[in-house]
Amino acid sequence: MKNILVVNAGSSSIKFQIIQMPQEKVLTNASIEKIGEIDSIFKMKTPELNIKNIFPVKSHEDALNYFLQQLIENKVLNDLSEINVCGHRIAHGGEYFRDSVIIDSDVSDKIEKLCQLAPLHNKVNLSCYQILNVLLKDIIHVAVFDTSFHQDISKEIYTYAIPYKYYEKYNIRKYGFHGTSHKYVSLITSEILGAKNSEKIIVCHLGNGASISAIKNGVCINTSMGLSPLGGIIMGTRSGNLDPSIIEFIMNNDDKSIEDVLSILNKESGLLGISSKSNDMRELLNSTDKQSVLAINMYCRKVSDYIGAYFMHLGGLDAIVFTAGVGENSAYIREKIISNIKEATNTIIDNDLNENGSKDRIISSKESNVKVLVISTNEEVMIAKDSYRLSLI
Ligand code: AMP
Repeated sequence: MKNILVVNAGSSSIKFQIIQMPQEKVLTNASIEKIGEIDSIFKMKTPELNIKNIFPVKSHEDALNYFLQQLIENKVLNDLSEINVCGHRIAHGGEYFRDSVIIDSDVSDKIEKLCQLAPLHNKVNLSCYQILNVLLKDIIHVAVFDTSFHQDISKEIYTYAIPYKYYEKYNIRKYGFHGTSHKYVSLITSEILGAKNSEKIIVCHLGNGASISAIKNGVCINTSMGLSPLGGIIMGTRSGNLDPSIIEFIMNNDDKSIEDVLSILNKESGLLGISSKSNDMRELLNSTDKQSVLAINMYCRKVSDYIGAYFMHLGGLDAIVFTAGVGENSAYIREKIISNIKEATNTIIDNDLNENGSKDRIISSKESNVKVLVISTNEEVMIAKDSYRLSLI
């Protein structure tokens, strides 16, 4: 039995779990949000405790120190030496990493080099590793990359139709993200349906960030995000794929810099941009104004377009799986997406199964040609699984 500390660091927050492996028992689930502000929020849950403290946390280093101290103070662990392995979610593994890997100086150099492709995230991920490598002595640290599950995608899929020198010089290509979620959900699908009935699946990770993957016999063959998580389908605040000439048009006509336009595409577009109301699907679903309805219709149409394209690419389809915030919680959105492909694919939802039930489940009817499932994603468990596996080698 090993205790795995799972660390998922973002630019202003860190999420933590301690997971006992191989039994996948979660000892605690904690987070620190708004790092660098005066009202940072620390939350920690165990089977016995539910803590929330608001106070200033200056830096990621302070956040990590505070979390480790709280682990002992709240008796989650008796001593930090009870942490056996630390698994880090790393945003970008570039072309270096096809799988999770134990971090050594070579790996950490490569993660640093990849800061060019994911400047905000890789930098923070790496610095959390460096700090914890000092605080937690003599343990293995494992890097689990958001991109590595997509590294089997073929060249004809990952290459952009721009001068090839930009791939050769700068590695500009499709990488894909949310790989840990797509991998986890595809493994659970295979457990539920059996390997023979889940050879060709499409995973729709529909959260605030959203992406779709085509997975054949456990291997990802296509995914919607690209060089960065801005590409692909419509998201909460991100535009997804666009005609690139829109960028120049907005710059010239609205007097914006390239940074301004990229900020608009990342933070003011998607559901928020179309509705002018919210990036939260719940708010749009509760609204009847025409822009909210348009945003929802565009969102569902874009997802079903990808399902259609990936159906062709897979050469058939055993299952469509919905996961993440919207995918797991909105029966309406699931039904609407499937209704767009019903005629062409004879995929039929069972309304009762779609609307009722909270656990991982099949929601298609017996007559459906394609199974439809809802599965709760769990990136932390996937990170713990990979960390445990590598710690045994
Ligand atoms: P995630 O990024 O996976 O945490 O997903 C967050 C998003 O899920 C939120 O921004 C909401 O838009 C969406 N969401 C959560 N609960 C619901 C729900 N019951 N119905 C529709 N959307 C939801």
